Amino acid sequence: MAALCGRARLAALGGRMRGCARASLRSCSAGPPLYDVLVSGGGMVGTAMAAALGHDIHFRDKKVALLEAGPRKEYHLPESYSNRVSSISPGSATFLSSFGAWDHVCSLRCKPFRRMQVWDACSEAIITFEKDDLDDMGYIVENDVIMAALTKQLDAVADRVEVFYGSRAVGYTWPLPSHNCDTSPWVQIELADGRRLQTKLLIGADGHNSVVRKEAEIQNIEHQYDQSAVVATLHLSEATENNVAWQRFLPTGPIALLPLSDTASSLVWSTSHEHASELLTMDTESFVDSINSAFWSNVNHSDFIDSAGAMFRSALSLLKPSGTAMRQLPPSVAEVDPESRAMFPLGMGHATEYVRHRVALIGDAAHRVHPLAGQGVNLGFGDIACLAHHLSAAAFNGQDLGSLKHLLKFETERQRHNVSLIAAIDLLKRLYSTSLSPVVLLRTWGLQATNALPPVKEQIMAFASK
Ligand SMILES: Cc1cc2nc3c(=O)[nH]c(=O)nc-3n(C[C@H](O)[C@H](O)[C@H](O)COP(=O)(O)OP(=O)(O)OC[C@H]3O[C@@H](n4cnc5c(N)ncnc54)[C@H](O)[C@@H]3O)c2cc1C
Repeated sequence: MAALCGRARLAALGGRMRGCARASLRSCSAGPPLYDVLVSGGGMVGTAMAAALGHDIHFRDKKVALLEAGPRKEYHLPESYSNRVSSISPGSATFLSSFGAWDHVCSLRCKPFRRMQVWDACSEAIITFEKDDLDDMGYIVENDVIMAALTKQLDAVADRVEVFYGSRAVGYTWPLPSHNCDTSPWVQIELADGRRLQTKLLIGADGHNSVVRKEAEIQNIEHQYDQSAVVATLHLSEATENNVAWQRFLPTGPIALLPLSDTASSLVWSTSHEHASELLTMDTESFVDSINSAFWSNVNHSDFIDSAGAMFRSALSLLKPSGTAMRQLPPSVAEVDPESRAMFPLGMGHATEYVRHRVALIGDAAHRVHPLAGQGVNLGFGDIACLAHHLSAAAFNGQDLGSLKHLLKFETERQRHNVSLIAAIDLLKRLYSTSLSPVVLLRTWGLQATNALPPVKEQIMAFASK
């Protein structure tokens, strides 16, 4: 057909030419099943992307597909909490509400928190964030609960979104900007079992080792941290209101205690790989002791830093009497759920481009951050809100969904937001990974000054709650 079509072009004979054009159209459109949008990767971000498009009124005539390498998981709320949880920002909760998933999260379980206390283990420096109205600062939600809520909303649009579980994409063929009857105008996807699919727009949501990003040859600036995160489900010594998220910066890395209920909290302890391995294998009593001492011990304090910090704090309280924060004591931990300890190596990454012709990257495929700010999946949900908005407008206007015209708007908006946050998180990680006195002194003064300036804290809170 290709040879025939080429010859017909050369011959330039009207009737035969029109016949070939019709034949070439047939040959170009035939082939594997074609989707308007195909999302590769069905983690929290990819599943939310597919569900958001499925619920979009302007996508009612579109065909959307979601590919997930893993199996479909049926979810029944267990009594014990999962060790994998995420701090979800109010902005992400609003986004999840926009297509009905947040109601399911709330009907399963989630724990709102109203206050955040972050402090340095090498000094008395402390910063607190608090909502003075009745709003929540954020929500601690198990990842399984988020996935169950998203899957339910995906099932509700099964007529518009086809989900392929147990389907790993192993190769992609990219369309040329101008195509002929020998080449497809769409992205071709090859699955591990030999099936093929094609799409007008491929969205890569396949995590930080993204195959989509690698195959599109998009450069990724990445760095492995010298830390792993140890997670576990903890039980408190006594019931409390438990509506504070606690984080203390130790010289080896930050330790966070995130509320799950009046009596349970989730641990995210970022520390050296060796220490993380030790924490995983030590007996439960030593593990609990290590957590309590990480929150309570002042072994990293020095007299010099303490006096310099105290002088600065007194000066600030003279200038701004209402600006200094009330220090609260974190609850003490009594027990750890058996089998709940696990560790994850940490790294950062950022794709230099989020889009190419007919391709977009979202979530960890586009950016990976240290968990110290609890922002990873929130950034991913922000990507989706932005991309879905531009795709919805393109669908409404009958435009090509894979066109760089609106994909570039998504890239510009999201990179503007993500790059500064990713850089700030990386800087915080580095700033707090040392107990060198001059650095400790500078960060102590910086934290105390920030804490004394409510407008600055409000800016930080507004940015982090998006
Ligand atoms: C310890 C820890 C604590 C964290 N805490 C928070 C927090 O409090 N708040 C927060 O916002 N973020 C947090 N994060 C970050 C958050 O977990 C991630 O940002 C988020 O899970 C990324 O989701 P994702 O869907 O982009 O990627 P992933 O979760 O990696 O999902 C990718 C999916 O793609 C599938 N896949 C991969 N390759 C293919 C393929 N070739 N074909 C088909 N499917 C494929 C995988 O099976 C997987 O399901 C934390 C991370 C860690 C490690």
